[in-house]
Amino acid sequence: MAHTDHTRRNPDKQCNVIAILNQKGGVGKSTTAVNLAAYLGEMGHKVLVVDFDPQGNTSSGFGIDKDSLEHDVCDGLSGEKSFEDLICETTIPKVSIIPSTIDLAGVEIEMVEQEKREYLLKEALTLIQDEFDYVFIDCPPSLGLLTLNALVAAKSLLIPIQCEFYALEGLTKLLETLKMVEKQLNPELKIFGVLMTMYDKRTTLSNDVVKEVRDYFGEDVFKTVIPRTVKLSEAPSHGVPINQYARLNKGALAYRDLAKEVMKRG
Ligand code: ADP
Ligand code: MG
Repeated sequence: MAHTDHTRRNPDKQCNVIAILNQKGGVGKSTTAVNLAAYLGEMGHKVLVVDFDPQGNTSSGFGIDKDSLEHDVCDGLSGEKSFEDLICETTIPKVSIIPSTIDLAGVEIEMVEQEKREYLLKEALTLIQDEFDYVFIDCPPSLGLLTLNALVAAKSLLIPIQCEFYALEGLTKLLETLKMVEKQLNPELKIFGVLMTMYDKRTTLSNDVVKEVRDYFGEDVFKTVIPRTVKLSEAPSHGVPINQYARLNKGALAYRDLAKEVMKRG
């Protein structure tokens, strides 16, 4: 399970730790974690994905059999294992993952009693993050303690927004949380980018939502918009990212474009 590749990346470049967050479920967080990581890996970057959602969709998306795991991210938070020992390889050579299971839900409850409870992920991650060009933390759909840990560990935030009628609903709460974290826990935290997902070009609704989000977030919004396509929802059942399932699909091409945009941003 433990990986053996300890080659260090360019030491002058700081590792970019990016939390993928929107407290709404089903907006494309996990899909983005898997496929963006896959393309960045394909383009030669060393990438770690930390699955920080008890549902473990990102782990499944990378073909991890959660039932057969002896350890998961929980053991790194408790200090029983180092994060280094929890790293699993994926089907993409330069991309690895620290998987999660439903046990993480219990850990969140136990955390409440702990000292420095917002810093557990940061402490575990700091020791290994510089081995990677990018670390993505896939957050659960809530603004609870797991998400706070992710926001403390991260340097920046990628916010996927689904092109639907209620897209902006809940974002005020998200931005308030962000402000609170900036003020009290992690002054460096920035928005890395806002990503429009599940875009359907046939509907005026999708176009209206994209416009509304661009008016609101301006340049923070990625030029790349992820289309709604069934291939993106099928790939996880094959346990591989879209680049190994349907390379020519429009969703694949969009995530490839997104990876290029992400590289430009840092
Ligand atoms: P989240 O992690 O925010 O809960 P997911 O990435 O799991 O959201 O996506 C929710 C559901 O929508 C999943 O079944 C996923 O396969 C599907 N999905 C995500 N992005 C797309 C897309 N661009 N087109 C079609 N289906 C998608
Ligand atoms: Mg998810």
